[in-house]
Amino acid sequence: MGAKHYYMDCIFCKIINGDIPNYTVYEDDHVLAFLDIHPHAKGHTVVIPKQHADTIFGLDDEYTQALMLGTQKAMEKIQEALGPEGFNVGWNHNEIAGQAVPHLHVHILPRWKNDGGKNIHAIINNPGNQSVQDIAALFNQ
Ligand code: AMP
Ligand code: ZN
Repeated sequence: MGAKHYYMDCIFCKIINGDIPNYTVYEDDHVLAFLDIHPHAKGHTVVIPKQHADTIFGLDDEYTQALMLGTQKAMEKIQEALGPEGFNVGWNHNEIAGQAVPHLHVHILPRWKNDGGKNIHAIINNPGNQSVQDIAALFNQ
């Protein structure tokens, strides 16, 4: 199945449609997981929905659900093939957060003991000066 809302100038839509080759880790009707060409870890994989959306805010629920399931399936494949001792999983949302390719993609980073990597808390440490209580109040207006 090709991409839903194929964008001609989107590199990941081109990969979904087979115009650019990829090393597939897992695929179903809704997602494609493939090896990152500039891996930050052995088996670094990206999982993309087969619907074009810059971010998760533009994705239909069906594809959002499938993205989590596809991420699990891809992790299982990596676990079988490479036997990592852990994973970091996540994505960069918008350029300010480091997103370079504007087609939503989940990074799967397999982890091993003494690989020199850090955890998700290392991404940012700038909580601001409002208390957690003040921030919580913003959700209850
Ligand atoms: P991000 O910085 O979150 O947008 O990550 C984009 C990722 O896509 C980077 O890790 C790139 O190495 C990867 N990437 C870009 N083009 C390709 C490609 N043709 N095949 C596989 N991975 C790619
Ligand atoms: Zn796309």
